[in-house]
Amino acid sequence: MNGFKHKKNICKYVCIVIATALVFASAAAGYADAIDEFYIEDAAVFIDELDDDYDAAAFDDGYAAYEDANEDTLANIVLSLGAGFSGWSDPVGKSSLYPAAITLGQALWAFQTAALRVIAPGQAEEQISVNDPRVKGKAIPIMTYHAVADVPWTSNDMLFVRPKNLEAQLKYLADNGYQTITFEDLDNIGAFSKPVMLTFDDGYKDNYTVLYPLLKEYNLKATIFIMGNAVWSKRYLSVAEIVEMADSGHVSIQSHTMNHLNLSSLGKTALDYELSESKAFIESITGKPVVALCYPYGSNNGTVRAAAAGYYRYAVNTVSGKFVCGTDLYSMKRIMVGRGMGISSFAASL
Ligand SMILES: [Zn+2]
Repeated sequence: MNGFKHKKNICKYVCIVIATALVFASAAAGYADAIDEFYIEDAAVFIDELDDDYDAAAFDDGYAAYEDANEDTLANIVLSLGAGFSGWSDPVGKSSLYPAAITLGQALWAFQTAALRVIAPGQAEEQISVNDPRVKGKAIPIMTYHAVADVPWTSNDMLFVRPKNLEAQLKYLADNGYQTITFEDLDNIGAFSKPVMLTFDDGYKDNYTVLYPLLKEYNLKATIFIMGNAVWSKRYLSVAEIVEMADSGHVSIQSHTMNHLNLSSLGKTALDYELSESKAFIESITGKPVVALCYPYGSNNGTVRAAAAGYYRYAVNTVSGKFVCGTDLYSMKRIMVGRGMGISSFAASL
């Protein structure tokens, strides 16, 4: 390398470092503390309200893991602030700053990634997240299931997939090289060539008795969205079953709120409770970060999405279609697997 080129390269690196540092310093200094305080206060309120059975050590572990997984990057800070501000200033959910915050956050994310690629090429190559412009347009099928049973126990039999159909679908995925990922894997989506997500809403007991053994048999992963207040009911997963599955590496436990209410109809306090308590509850029992929310009935609007952005990194709805990288992470589309879906239409939907 000759001297001129060498100098030019040093200049380029110094400029990028200074520009990145300035952008980070100006926003992060003021806001990171505020956001940290917000989470810590929230955790303290939660701890105050718990009874004697509360496992403080498990909660601390969960919170530390959550912090590790959610470093306050500038993009996240802008997303949270923009979404939060949008929520306060826009109680009817019509306007607003929310799309602008998402766009700004994604642009900053792209800038950070580009800067990182120059400063530390090896590191950037290892992790390509779902926000990375290089995967923009990549489609990820997110399948929606509920209960798994031959005999439905409610009149809504569409919610009950037959065990033999589920097994055929899982076998198809395993035989054809699909990679069943969970929301945690979206930070490294570049590592997966045929990703698919299996999501199970409501946390029915059969997810433990039927789904879980199949996941182990075929070595696949799934996400179960549970309601915090359902763990005491015999139709639903118990705390012990949730913990066992979460520890197995085959199941990620994520939030379906506390009480399965229509979030669009709730006031600010009730909405905040449904979002924050379910996340804190699940983290306290599994010791693992909760990063994704499933809107009950798919119900959401600008206010709900803005509030969700204060606690979660992703939220799925019931709008049909594949999720596409680069689109709104708080309106992720899914594909419903109904009771009558045969293996050929399942394969065609992927
Ligand atoms: Zn549900």
